[in-house]
Amino acid sequence: HKPVHIIGGGMAGSEAAWQLVSQGVPVILHEMRGVKETEAHKTDGLAELVCSNSFRSDDAKTNAVGLLHEEMRRCNSIILAEGDNHRLPAGGALAVDRDAFSAAVTKTLTEHPLVTISREEITGLPPEDWDSVIIATGPLTSESLSEAILKETGEDELAFFDAIAPVIHRDSVNMDKAWFQSRYDKGETLADQTAYLNCPMDKEQYDAFIDALIAGEKTEFKEWEGTPYFEGCLPIEVMAERGRETLRHGPMKPVGLTNPHNPTVKAYAIVQLRQDNALGTLFNMVGFQTKLKYGVQTEIFRLIPGLEEAQFARLGGIHRNTFLNSPRLLDDQLRLKSRPRLRFAGQLIGVEGYVESASMGLLAGRYAAAERLGKTLAPPPETTAMGALIRHVTGGHLDAGKGSFQPMNVNFGLFPPITQPTEDAEGNRIRGKAKTPARKTAMSARALDDLAAWLG
Ligand code: FAD
Repeated sequence: HKPVHIIGGGMAGSEAAWQLVSQGVPVILHEMRGVKETEAHKTDGLAELVCSNSFRSDDAKTNAVGLLHEEMRRCNSIILAEGDNHRLPAGGALAVDRDAFSAAVTKTLTEHPLVTISREEITGLPPEDWDSVIIATGPLTSESLSEAILKETGEDELAFFDAIAPVIHRDSVNMDKAWFQSRYDKGETLADQTAYLNCPMDKEQYDAFIDALIAGEKTEFKEWEGTPYFEGCLPIEVMAERGRETLRHGPMKPVGLTNPHNPTVKAYAIVQLRQDNALGTLFNMVGFQTKLKYGVQTEIFRLIPGLEEAQFARLGGIHRNTFLNSPRLLDDQLRLKSRPRLRFAGQLIGVEGYVESASMGLLAGRYAAAERLGKTLAPPPETTAMGALIRHVTGGHLDAGKGSFQPMNVNFGLFPPITQPTEDAEGNRIRGKAKTPARKTAMSARALDDLAAWLG
């Protein structure tokens, strides 16, 4: 077979490559890192996780991203297989050792006889003789390629801000004040219990902290003024500006935790840190993405009890995120309607998150493989997590018009509703709509059944 070209060796591009070669279709993977950096990546490894090391909930029964994990495992996903292989304790979440995970994906693909990796930036639309291309260059698609895509699609740029959270060296945390505990003591093993570090605040400390956040100097991005934030990833100081109590009800909520240093006094707010590497030497500040200036960040975060002497392995930061108006531009095979030899995948098509991005790479890879083998693969049923996502991005939704299309994490709101019978066994009328959490469990079961039929 002629090779399929993949541009971008991130979450989506790596998964797409694996799906293609697993069906015997050769791949040329063009990745610019090693030659040209992005604003957020730190290495030249494939499938690098740029911020958090978490694939979020692994509960396939009641959580949509957990269900997406399970669907991807059943579709022979390399991202989930290596995620499972390099799993770290994190209660009910699937957190991974980012370096070992990326190294494993890189090794598998590099050593595969059907994969050729070409370290180069693709600066414009691919040459005409590349008859099948998957573009998976992500939220940080390089400038020249972004421009070429925008010119081809005739769109104005669609963008929003994203922010990342700081990482702290564990041995710089004062354990006379902080303690290990996962919220509601989730997880069975001792390792689960040491996956989170907690730093308590009383009211006075919380108030001083909020004042400092609001007053702290922020990085300004004049040229992007007016660009909206992604609501799921708001900078901490923006949350603080929305109301003094916002953080206490968000990332700093003091529930499900008991301070062993002071068990009788309930903390007013709690900052959580989550284990970031297998060694347990690094912890990231959960929900603390920020665009505060670097110097100010160290100063303000050291106000947190337990973090007075914190050493930062990485400070927070902010970047722009680019995505396509996919409902208008792409068909349900993820092909550009105006140039069907070009497929798009990953965050660039308007999904949000590592797992979601990888899942769209999985589909793009399977679609491209089927096409090379002279077949057509129908999209997965919309009752599955992957089907619900692809329906969101390719315009199955009513709000497909320009301007209203926003990137989306997978969630049960994207799934068609589930209804119970309207009468019970005795013929009495009951309400037709299933309630949570029974509704979620039923949706998950339906998804896995329908996925099996699709795979069959
Ligand atoms: P990427 O994984 O970014 O892969 C794209 C690849 O394309 C990169 O390797 C890049 O070097 C390459 N590339 C770009 N342009 C070119 C070119 N012209 N030629 C050749 N190669 C090119 N999601 C989460 O779930 N949790 C988080 O905590 C999280 N934090 C984020 C923080 C930041 C700073 C960013 C940018 C995103 C974050 N995301 C997060 C969102 C998203 O899930 C990830 O960005 C995810 O990696 C997207 O997968 P992708 O394959 O689409 O893009």
